[in-house]
Amino acid sequence: MRSNRPPLALVWLKRDLRLRDHDALTAALAENKYVLLLYIAEPSLLADEHVSERHLDFIKASIEDLQQQLKALNTAVLAVKGEVLDVFEKLQSFFNLTGIYSHIETGLGVTYLRDQKVADWCHAQNIHWKEYRQQGVFRALPNRKQWIKRWTEFMNRPQAPFPTKKGWLKLQQIESLRREFTLLDCKVEANEQIQPGGEQKAFRYLNSFFEGRYKNYQTHISKPDLARKSCSRLSPYIAYGNLSMRQVLQRTEAEKAKGKKGFGIRAFESRLRWQAHFIQKFEMECRMEHESINRGYHALNKTVRPDYIKAWEEGKTGVPMVDAAMRCLVATGYLNFRMRALVVSFFVHQLWQPWQACSGFLARQFLDFEPGIHFPQLQMQAGETGINTLRIYNPVKNGQEHDPHGHFTQKWLPELSELPPTLVHTPWEITPFESALYNFELGKNYPAPIVNLEESRKKASDILWKMQKAPLVYQESKRILRKHTLPNRNSIQ
Ligand SMILES: Cc1cc2nc3c(=O)[nH]c(=O)nc-3n(C[C@H](O)[C@H](O)[C@H](O)COP(=O)(O)OP(=O)(O)OC[C@H]3O[C@@H](n4cnc5c(N)ncnc54)[C@H](O)[C@@H]3O)c2cc1C
Repeated sequence: MRSNRPPLALVWLKRDLRLRDHDALTAALAENKYVLLLYIAEPSLLADEHVSERHLDFIKASIEDLQQQLKALNTAVLAVKGEVLDVFEKLQSFFNLTGIYSHIETGLGVTYLRDQKVADWCHAQNIHWKEYRQQGVFRALPNRKQWIKRWTEFMNRPQAPFPTKKGWLKLQQIESLRREFTLLDCKVEANEQIQPGGEQKAFRYLNSFFEGRYKNYQTHISKPDLARKSCSRLSPYIAYGNLSMRQVLQRTEAEKAKGKKGFGIRAFESRLRWQAHFIQKFEMECRMEHESINRGYHALNKTVRPDYIKAWEEGKTGVPMVDAAMRCLVATGYLNFRMRALVVSFFVHQLWQPWQACSGFLARQFLDFEPGIHFPQLQMQAGETGINTLRIYNPVKNGQEHDPHGHFTQKWLPELSELPPTLVHTPWEITPFESALYNFELGKNYPAPIVNLEESRKKASDILWKMQKAPLVYQESKRILRKHTLPNRNSIQ
């Protein structure tokens, strides 16, 4: 019966929403008579605490961008809502599925379990599911001895070409197929504050970075406002595969060859390497989604305080740099690295909350949420790896150093807008005279800090330094070093 149905290969799009340098797509077109691009918005994935409408909007905009580009090829993406196996089953009832092509995903537990079911289903149906690397991340590695060599070899490979008109399921056929499914409406209302998704937008960011923004990369990287322009802002495009890391790296090499040199470019390039380095850690130890990689820290006893968590999420802790960063993140989906580290540090150290209690909220806010970077970074900032130096950020010092005029802080905390720069990061130091002068009352216009900064820092530091000497922490540190660090540990953490 199946053989009477027309043949069709699926390119199952996940976090690879682009047409250029797409190995799975190239292979599908080379090996099959008809190919369909398929995106499935899965209710089970959308229900995960790390996933948000913000992410879905970025995905929708990316699909819209693909649809525009695909018009010239007389084809389209079939974008549907539903669970993956239901959609595959239905497609199989119309077609003889000749193969499923996708990228290798290092994702959340929910996608890992779904992929296992897909593999079983494909096996039972005798359908070949071919997965292609897009990240420089390798499955089933016992350690990192060969990783950098393999990563370099992968990144140096030529890019897959833009597809031609040949081999697609035609637009007309896709139109009639659409009637059979619950479609994903990909229209999104533009939000000026949030980066728009899509392959073409990604290239605009890539081009504008090398056309000039890169010049201040190194000097602005830690500044909460200036980093927004001088950093590449490529992270959501890389996270959703609007760009492949190979494209970004090869472009960087080409720009260097044209004469762009200097510490900034080198610093940028090393961060590009960190991307896969972190994801590889998560690939090799995915229990990091739920627990610290270093089992010695499972003994850490922290009491969840919903009142602290609420204040932190709403940007009302009474610590201006933390609050401004949190409100900015909620509004825009982006923070530079230092501010991400600072808000997490404040949460896990000063508020003494488990990193798991901020993981979902942060992931939902970060437009660029990438599980393989998110979980290892949270644990690093929480001081629970045993292999990284414990770092407790001082939010006042960071505010004074990186937002000295208070512009960023006052933008996101308008209640502090009348205060002079000397008080913006320490409003609790206001004198009665200044209070009257600036018409500002601590506790009324803006809260007093919910914890004592110095005492809470000292408590966290004492406990964590002591724990570093615990036998299990030490033993686990050795294991982590053997498994996850490169032979030459200097270039990558
Ligand atoms: C708690 C925490 C959570 C984070 N979660 C994410 C996340 O979910 N997704 C994400 O892409 N980055 C994450 N980062 C890393 C980093 O903050 C962002 O990649 C960076 O700020 C994105 O801005 P950009 O694209 O302008 O970066 P650039 O500085 O221009 O760097 C270029 C690219 O290099 C990669 N990169 C940069 N810094 C890092 C890093 N420290 N680790 C790994 N890769 C890096 C990213 O792909 C980035 O787009 C997190 C950092 C922290 C402290």
